Amino acid sequence: MIEREDTVAYIARLERELQAARDRIAALEREADIHTRYARQLDQRLTSLLSISAALLIGRDIEHVVSLVVQQATNLFPGTSAAYIYLLDSDGEGRIQLKAAVPEHEPSVLISTLAEMASKAPRAMLLNGPELEQLIQYETHRVPNEGCVVPQSVLLAPLRIENQRLGALIVCSDQFYHSFLPRDLPFVQALADLTMIAIDEILQRQRAAALQRDLVHTQSLRAEAEARLNAAQAQLLQSAKLAAVGELAASVAHEINNPLYAARNSLYLVEQDLPPDAPQRTFLTIAQQELGRIARIITRMRDFYRPSRGELSSTNINALLRETLELVTTHLRHNHVVVHAHLANDLPVITAHADQLRQVFLNVILNACDAMPNGGELTVKSSLIAARPESPAALAIAISDTGVGIAPEHLPHLFEPFYTTKPHGTGLGLAISAHIVTQHGGRILVDSQPGEGTTFTILLPLEVPKAE
Ligand code: ADP
Ligand code: MG
Repeated sequence: MIEREDTVAYIARLERELQAARDRIAALEREADIHTRYARQLDQRLTSLLSISAALLIGRDIEHVVSLVVQQATNLFPGTSAAYIYLLDSDGEGRIQLKAAVPEHEPSVLISTLAEMASKAPRAMLLNGPELEQLIQYETHRVPNEGCVVPQSVLLAPLRIENQRLGALIVCSDQFYHSFLPRDLPFVQALADLTMIAIDEILQRQRAAALQRDLVHTQSLRAEAEARLNAAQAQLLQSAKLAAVGELAASVAHEINNPLYAARNSLYLVEQDLPPDAPQRTFLTIAQQELGRIARIITRMRDFYRPSRGELSSTNINALLRETLELVTTHLRHNHVVVHAHLANDLPVITAHADQLRQVFLNVILNACDAMPNGGELTVKSSLIAARPESPAALAIAISDTGVGIAPEHLPHLFEPFYTTKPHGTGLGLAISAHIVTQHGGRILVDSQPGEGTTFTILLPLEVPKAE
């Protein structure tokens, strides 16, 4: 009997021990399970952080980076109900502003207050229910009411680069069973640091691009200034040369005038004494005519270099062209040059120095003739060019020849005084012509094909600029 009782107690004890062992095993299993889950979660988080960092580093702009971060935050922290990124405003007043939110909605005043606080914090923080409520009361001096839902738990991380405060990352959970844990802190700090590295990278890229643009701009300004300086120097040189020519011409005219006057006078006296039928009279007349011609050349030369001689008057350009052509008809015919004139009927009369313009046309026509030593065709065209946004209405006079053309190396120098390729040329015709046309507010353009011919186009505005 005793034996049986002992056995029963013994079995009961064994059963209790067995149960205890089973409980321990279950507890160990649970613990192992927790560890496995935690390890899996850790693994997931690291993978997730790695993929975020890869995505961030190729981020194109800041908007793209911040919206990616708030999305990833909800994946990285299970139980997240909302995530926000605030960044310092660029207005320099040191305020932070919401840049990205998931879900997309206006955050409460509470969240903004938390963000302001987090942006000044030295490192990531975790705040749970009661602390959170305390903090809100302290920060906002008011009890959170129905209008202000207090999250269950919040992860905050400052966004900063080298101690410079730039904003905050906030991750909230509303679920009671999903409070965040201290072990989440390194991850939220890591996410914040990654975000800042990505933003810094973008800012630096933008700064580099801006610097590059500035540099290009400065270089083009410099080139422009240099070009203007060169043009001004060339113009100065040209003017100086022309002035020298003018002075020379005036003094030569003066020097020649006196002996010329004496010679003409003497011839006049000889003429008086000569009988009307003397055979020498023919030669005397020739001598007088030629001296008269010299006198006229001298006057023309002197007048020519005198700046802005005469009055501006209403000038009919077509009439002026016809007159000039008439003047050289014999010369052209002698050189086997055929003339074509295409003069537009609708040309308005312009205000100009007619004498000076006649001189320009003459210079260009004579050059064209010189360029056709074996004859050729000379075409003179006039036309009206309508006003355009970049240039006012103008007259265009195109004088073309079928002559030798101009070699490219001569082109840049044509309008320089004394630049000539002719054995007996003066190199003054085009320099003076350009001067006159510029005084009229116009331009001379050259287009030449060596071996085929040349066109000089003279553009004259309908109104001479006032500054003249
Ligand atoms: P010049 O006629 O005394 O040489 P210009 O100033 O009138 O001086 O002309 C300068 C140079 O321009 C000429 O020597 C010539 O080389 C060139 N030139 C001007 N017009 C023409 C043209 N129609 N065809 C070819 N070359 C020309
Ligand atoms: Mg000439």
